[in-house]
Amino acid sequence: MISIAIDGPSGAGKSTIARMVAKDLGYLYVDTGALYRTIGLYAVRKGVDPEDENGVSALLPELDIRLTHENGVQQVYLLGENVSEEIRRPEMSKAASNVSRHPAVRAYLLETQRKLARENNVLMDGRDIGTVVLPDAQVKIFLTASAEKRAERRYKEQIAKGDHSQTYEQVLEAVIQRDYNDSHRAIAPLKQAEDAVLADTSELDLEQSVQLIKDIIREKCAAL
Ligand code: C5P
Repeated sequence: MISIAIDGPSGAGKSTIARMVAKDLGYLYVDTGALYRTIGLYAVRKGVDPEDENGVSALLPELDIRLTHENGVQQVYLLGENVSEEIRRPEMSKAASNVSRHPAVRAYLLETQRKLARENNVLMDGRDIGTVVLPDAQVKIFLTASAEKRAERRYKEQIAKGDHSQTYEQVLEAVIQRDYNDSHRAIAPLKQAEDAVLADTSELDLEQSVQLIKDIIREKCAAL
């Protein structure tokens, strides 16, 4: 099986780019952020503060999270309920980032992610795929862009969806805060794997970014 790991901060276009490239290659696209978001959602629903390590850890045995692919689109089920839309709410980004700091949460999701990579050719996107989840991935890419560009893209996405709950400045502040949380947590912090190729999309549009990623994969795979 072939594994391609794409890591990087939020808003670098990872999921859109990864989804398009995976479709092209005929690989299973796995958006691992959705798993953390689902645990964040469950905590919020249960009235547990996502920052409360013991509280969140105690919920894990009750959980049943499944990723399916329907018409090539990843769907997430929480205890049988499709929560794919709900986990995209802006407040779930923060809940996901907070639960993702807890070692028990990361350990819980590790096997789910590795199993998918054992059974499929995968293109997996996240924060620690190349460093922790799939250290033997054949291709590792660290996809990033400046915080301002990433906030601008996220802001435009929200406006396009009719969501006017945040100003650009608030989105930028949330991006910077989440970057900080993700790169300073004690376990599996966001960082570029030593053997990952850096791809900066600050000055690229979507089509150019997809092309860049495809070129990196082609070059790496030719060298295998
Ligand atoms: O990618 P997305 O923005 O959906 O991820 C939500 C949050 O989940 C991130 O801010 C990060 O804290 C966490 N995450 C993680 N490890 C991953 C994927 C996501 O810690 N592999």
